[in-house]
Order: sequence, then structure tokens, then C-alpha cells
Amino acid sequence: MLLEKSLNDLNISTTSAFPDSKKRHNSLGSVRVAHINYERPDNDKLLVTAKMAGETNEYSTSILFSGVEFVSADSSNSVDIGATENIMPISMSRDDCKVLCGCLDFYYTFAWYDHNKDALIGKPPKPYQKVPGSNRPPRNPTNAPGICKHVMKLAEHLKAQGVLKS
Ligand SMILES: [Zn+2]
Repeated sequence: MLLEKSLNDLNISTTSAFPDSKKRHNSLGSVRVAHINYERPDNDKLLVTAKMAGETNEYSTSILFSGVEFVSADSSNSVDIGATENIMPISMSRDDCKVLCGCLDFYYTFAWYDHNKDALIGKPPKPYQKVPGSNRPPRNPTNAPGICKHVMKLAEHLKAQGVLKS
């Protein structure tokens, strides 16, 4: 079984599990990137952490990429991320991407299933347990890994900046 997911995989998994949801891909207009920070936690890794501002709250949202090529700042087609070295654009279909967001949609709908696919940054949340006697429908009936609107919007921003390519 292939565990590692790409950003494209997570996007497709989300939109196919919840095609008509008013959330996520259908509410990206309500989110913007307030602040963005790039770190290099390991030789070939790039951790992007952003403050994502919604209508009322701000959330911390992260995407961790592996297999990133860091190159000298004068390399052609490279992207400036405000560090001494540039990076080459990262493919959105590159496997081994991990995500995290502080919002409730991410935590309750996706974090556990992302963890199961090795696509979650950090420790897993507690597995979702239905309240006995509750008539609420399951939050994620197909157990789909996925991403909230903040991760989606951050990915869109990174694409516009040239950090990501399709
Ligand atoms: Zn979120």
C-alpha cells in the first residue's frame, strides 16, 4: 500500500469525498494569507507555516515538503523564499507531503485519516468516536484523507508565488 500523499492527492480526495460541501474548495474566498514563513528543518525539506486569516479567526497552517531542491540564488528558474538559498519549484503531485491546520474542520474531519496515510505533521489526534445514542451523521463517512480550506488556500498562494507547480 502506498501511504504517502501529494498535495494533489489530498485535494482530489477532499473534493471527491465532499463535492457539494459549502466548505473547503467552495469557500476559499473567505480566507487569505496573513503571514508566511519558510524553514528548512532538514537537508531536503521545506516547512511552510502560515497564518491564515478567515472572517473571524486566524489559524496556523503548515505544509511540509520533502525532496526539495535547494539551489544557489542565481540558478535559473529557481524561486526566492527569502533565504540564502533558493528552491526549485515543487511539484504538487510529488508524494510525501504532510499537512497540519489548527482549525476544527481539519482536526475533526481529516487529521486522523491523514495520519493513517502518513500525511499528518506531528502527533495524531484521538480517533473519532461517535457519542453513544447520537443521530449525527459521521463527519467523514468515507474516511477520506484531506485538507481544509486553509491548506487549500495556502497551496493556491504557493502556486501563485511559483513555489509550487502543477
Ligand atoms: Zn484549516
